[in-house]
Amino acid sequence: KLDAHPTGRHFLQIPGPSPVPDRILRAMSLPTIDHRGPEFGVLGRKVISGIREIFQTRHPVVIYPASGTGAWEAALANTLSPGDHVLMFETGHFASLWAKMATRLGLSTEFLSWQGTDEVLPNAPGWRRGVQADQIAQRLREDREHRIKAVCVVHNETSTGVTSDIAAVRGAIDEAKHPALLMVDSISGLASAEFRHDEWGVDVTVSGSQKGLMLPPGISFNALSPRALDASKTAKLPRAFWAWDEIVEMNATGYWPYTPNTNLLYGLSEALDMIQAEGLPKVFARHQRWAAGVRAAVNAWGLPIQCADPAVYSPVLTGVILPDGMDADAVRKLIYERFDLSLGTGLGKLKGRMFRIGHLGDSNDLTLLATVAGCEMGLKLAGIKLQSSGIQAAMDHFSQHPAPALTA
Ligand code: PLP
Repeated sequence: KLDAHPTGRHFLQIPGPSPVPDRILRAMSLPTIDHRGPEFGVLGRKVISGIREIFQTRHPVVIYPASGTGAWEAALANTLSPGDHVLMFETGHFASLWAKMATRLGLSTEFLSWQGTDEVLPNAPGWRRGVQADQIAQRLREDREHRIKAVCVVHNETSTGVTSDIAAVRGAIDEAKHPALLMVDSISGLASAEFRHDEWGVDVTVSGSQKGLMLPPGISFNALSPRALDASKTAKLPRAFWAWDEIVEMNATGYWPYTPNTNLLYGLSEALDMIQAEGLPKVFARHQRWAAGVRAAVNAWGLPIQCADPAVYSPVLTGVILPDGMDADAVRKLIYERFDLSLGTGLGKLKGRMFRIGHLGDSNDLTLLATVAGCEMGLKLAGIKLQSSGIQAAMDHFSQHPAPALTA
């Protein structure tokens, strides 16, 4: 099977790891250098200061040689003590995994969820919507003794394609005049969806390399606030590898207390150059435009989009719900085998019910049209009745909403 498609590029259209631009792959192929030498210091200082611009923060961003899950643990372990109460919100599979991790670390985890009903997905109504800031505000108002030490939410829920309003969550905490820390997972939002660490008053933002930053998996981040750094001085959860203090101290000169992921940092340096040259507002607009084109296709097919609230559609990925009785993983398998196109699987409660189309990383209008074409052919081959052509709808969208000209 593996040599069935000897020509052309594989279409990696899962919502991360995202396709890595050739420029970044080339940058990462440089020889590995001495991580204590002077050349490394130049690289270290560049990425340590450059990454702050992506989080839109003036404060330290810790870079770990780890996947996003490690940075989740780091956020909790650096700021909290055994038995501390944390408030989380069920937006999907990743919010659920973070809550499970908090419980495993010995925290007392409270998991709020949306209270409505949903005809299309009765078993997971909240997995079609974003964080409900009013529910958080109400819960915090009730907590007069301030037992809740942190509110943890997912910015871009990669399992569903819903991007929650983080400024509204900050507003809820402020309105309740509650001292809880705000921790946000923007693993798949950062550098694709608007994110403002300082302005939104986030205390710890968790992110990873393999999504909007267009890098392979392997590095992850904690962006900090002064309050988070203060909390880390008294927090009692055990931590050693994840401890911020020694890393922040050594980062001041561009180095790490352990061996950092040198070649991924070359890649990060290149990614920062690319993103800075384009400018964050254009990066965000580009993903919004791609997402609208892909949604136009899904709407034309007549299939429900996983996100039921247009106000929180994700610019990063789109979830497509299949008709009852169809196995979405069988359709994904068919599309992979026939067209060499990888789509995201339905996770957790969504297993077999939907698939996810990633529109991030090294993409353009034509790769996304090819992706839509691969989906459309596969859906038809699987015997699913489609209302009209998604390819035509996406072509119309992209041609009627032109991207800035290449020569501009
Ligand atoms: N949180 C979100 C929103 C994610 O999308 C992912 C991975 O896809 C994770 C957490 C876990 O990150 P990792 O798989 O890099 O450990």
